[in-house]
Amino acid sequence: MRWDRDYVKEAADSGRVIPGFNIFGYEDALAVTRAAEEAGCPVLLMVNRGAVDAMDAECWGKLLSSIAQRAAVPVGVHLDHCSDTDIIRRAVDSGFSSVMYDGSKLSFEKNREITQQMAEYAHACGVLLEAELGQVPYSDLGETEIRYTSPEEAAGISSETEADWLAVSVGNVHRLVDRTVTIDFSVLHQIQKVCRLPLVIHGSSGVSSGDIKRLKHEHIGKMNFGTVLRKAFSDALRMEMQEHPEEFDRLKLFAYPVTRVEQEAYQIISMLQGIPDLSRGKCGEGGKNENSAERTV
Ligand SMILES: [Zn+2]
Repeated sequence: MRWDRDYVKEAADSGRVIPGFNIFGYEDALAVTRAAEEAGCPVLLMVNRGAVDAMDAECWGKLLSSIAQRAAVPVGVHLDHCSDTDIIRRAVDSGFSSVMYDGSKLSFEKNREITQQMAEYAHACGVLLEAELGQVPYSDLGETEIRYTSPEEAAGISSETEADWLAVSVGNVHRLVDRTVTIDFSVLHQIQKVCRLPLVIHGSSGVSSGDIKRLKHEHIGKMNFGTVLRKAFSDALRMEMQEHPEEFDRLKLFAYPVTRVEQEAYQIISMLQGIPDLSRGKCGEGGKNENSAERTV
């Protein structure tokens, strides 16, 4: 189904959270879409900087919007973290349903100015815009300093631009492989008091399960998950290659890793939506054992 309205805002206003998953190919895009269909919930397929470097925005837009159109639930196609305004415009023109302008490294004034320009461009095509304030560190780059989102600046972005969603830095950290991060709810509450926009939490793979549950009761519309799916895929692929060193068929090697992505995505969607996690029994009918048996036939 088309992402025909602002499901993120609707979620934030009604105590739900829409998951955004970073995807890197058609296999994981389909796996995430299947998980969302199984759960009956909207989902966002997100294309990050590395993915746009590997394949241009036009190709991603066509590929992912065709997957979204065939889905049984609303599937958004989102450009994640982009500070290149040319790429943002190309994504808007190529079927993306939302784009993120990341001006977090700029002065507030410059960030606000370009955020507004991008919001105007996006809205003219019916596309939503995510802004960012503060800086969410990347653990894999050795970044340790968290620059928290300023509530005053959040109020400014909310009242002085037409941005639709705001990514905030409230203790969250990108690319953690364990759920060790705790959210600073006092900063989050200060932001929410003065900012009407649905907020977005990046680096959700590393947020403690308890805090993820608490965040559902805040004005959070979207949580981004990348590392948890990437790790599920690569751990499973490593195992497949060790178990079947003679195998050269990519489709066979990818079958189990893609099933693991679907299971992890379903588990996260279940957690956010408060529905029972039946992923082990329902998602990816080609589970490890069945898949292995199939491969030997
Ligand atoms: Zn991010």
